[in-house]
Amino acid sequence: MWKCFNFALGFHSRERPIGKHLSSPIHSMSSQPRMLPEDEYNQKLVSNVHPADWVNPTPSGKYNLVVIGAGTAGLVTAAGAAGLGAKVALIERQFMGGDCLNVGCVPSKAIISAARVAAAVRDAGEFGVNVPPGTEVDFGKVMERMRKLRSDIAPHDSVKRFAALGIDVYLGQGSFIDSSTLTVDGTPLSFSKAVICTGARASAPPITGLDKVPYLTNETLFSLTELPKRIGIIGAGPIGCEMAQAFASFGSKVYLVESAPGILIKEDPDAAAIIREHLDRDGVKLLCCGKDLELSPGETGGIRLRVESEGKGYDIEVDQILVAVGRAPNVEGMALEKASVEYTKKGVTINDKFRTTNKRIYAAGDICSPYQFTHAADFMARAVIRNTLFFGRAKHSALVIPWCTYTSPELAHVGLNPSDAEQQGIEIDTFTQPMSGVDRAILEGKTDGFVRVHVRKGSDEIVGSTIVAENAGDMIGSLSIAMTQGIGLGSIANCIHPYPTQGEAVRKVGDLYNKTRLTPRVASIMKRLIAWQR
Ligand SMILES: Cc1cc2nc3c(=O)[nH]c(=O)nc-3n(C[C@H](O)[C@H](O)[C@H](O)COP(=O)(O)OP(=O)(O)OC[C@H]3O[C@@H](n4cnc5c(N)ncnc54)[C@H](O)[C@@H]3O)c2cc1C
Repeated sequence: MWKCFNFALGFHSRERPIGKHLSSPIHSMSSQPRMLPEDEYNQKLVSNVHPADWVNPTPSGKYNLVVIGAGTAGLVTAAGAAGLGAKVALIERQFMGGDCLNVGCVPSKAIISAARVAAAVRDAGEFGVNVPPGTEVDFGKVMERMRKLRSDIAPHDSVKRFAALGIDVYLGQGSFIDSSTLTVDGTPLSFSKAVICTGARASAPPITGLDKVPYLTNETLFSLTELPKRIGIIGAGPIGCEMAQAFASFGSKVYLVESAPGILIKEDPDAAAIIREHLDRDGVKLLCCGKDLELSPGETGGIRLRVESEGKGYDIEVDQILVAVGRAPNVEGMALEKASVEYTKKGVTINDKFRTTNKRIYAAGDICSPYQFTHAADFMARAVIRNTLFFGRAKHSALVIPWCTYTSPELAHVGLNPSDAEQQGIEIDTFTQPMSGVDRAILEGKTDGFVRVHVRKGSDEIVGSTIVAENAGDMIGSLSIAMTQGIGLGSIANCIHPYPTQGEAVRKVGDLYNKTRLTPRVASIMKRLIAWQR
């Protein structure tokens, strides 16, 4: 049955703003939101995701499902439920597509692709390809390309498309009147079930002077049209590291400030260390263990950034600051109290079946989960449809959620790492294949990194994996499949991979596991068997 259910979802599932931070504001919440610069591409984007001439429908009776927020979680929930015959309303106060399309995955990966081209040109000499000196990055064009691609993708998430799927799309702020009614700009919508998919936004960390200077977040970064000569990026998590490397490849002087002793602190330290080495090589100045960070207006029109890092004081002037630390859940303005929906500063409280403290109301995506990824929002939404409409029992804890940081090389992970395993009392065996032993990586000149797989001790059951490699994000998929389908590491070794590919590294880890099965006893039996055949 759930296979048909996933088929019904197929027509949406694309794996695809607020404060004084807006040096180039992109929106207002109450009126028509704007995306700067207002060129032909952003006009096309907005005409798809928040058309100015859209007239909200008039509700006709009770909805099976009202979905608040039209980011990935909301779009997948609405499309899936409507595809299965439910009467659905979808409410969005700003841009359909949410963060991912407008100010997250899509624009960031578009500019990372340009940064990779810039890095390839920079390194072309190593391949015997001589590029004329003085080759420059046209940042204006990089951003224009990004805006064009984003607007090309936008119809997929558009108001028109979702209305054509039979969904009542309401543009406006959704808030609860009571436990079974919502209102959008004064129009009451009564529901049998509701799903809160309102996502998260960049949070303003308590940094001295942050309120006295203009700064960028992911909500405004992609509106830049000029390359900052010097940029200070606060936070060396995935977004901070990705953007630091991209801007350094474009030619900015990048200062990456992090209060922890290293970058990407949720990852295995040796994996993060490889990324750190690459950031360093690409010219990013990393200021780790940053203490007493202070921002103030600079003397030459920029922003003065003072910080102590590893015992040394820095006093730098930069042209832009990007704050990339922490996310705050969008819980405000929904009158959650009126519907008895509890929340904390981490977001809406749910049980393992995605239900909030009101039994009619569920939540999915960044608003309720520590796994803040588009694919996670997508699969939470699928689970929520089952649980709301079909008495399903899909659980948050059952989701196997991989993730990837799109630096060069990429760093991808799924399942447990050694410290998680220790905490959970799970004994593991670990197998690691360095990329320097993989022919394709050697031929591409990209040998930094490894594929590491953890199995439950004494078995080949995969419990986790970390990959650092050029296409780690693509490679982790095969390990996620193995984990969800119960395919052991030994079986991966038996699967023929094309030569030469980076994916062979995963098979080679399987070979490493199989070698451990050749115990001295098994080896001696095999030797005797072969001798007997002579
Ligand atoms: C710079 C950046 C890069 C990223 N890159 C990746 C990546 O490469 N891969 C990946 O998997 N993830 C990435 N992410 C994370 C990804 O964007 C989010 O996990 C995903 O967008 C979450 O989807 P969502 O539906 O939960 O929330 P959102 O996308 O935030 O959507 C929530 C929607 O709800 C609307 N809303 C809020 N309150 C109300 C209300 N009261 N009434 C009506 N509407 C409301 C908002 O306007 C918004 O449109 C990135 C994020 C950022 C910031």
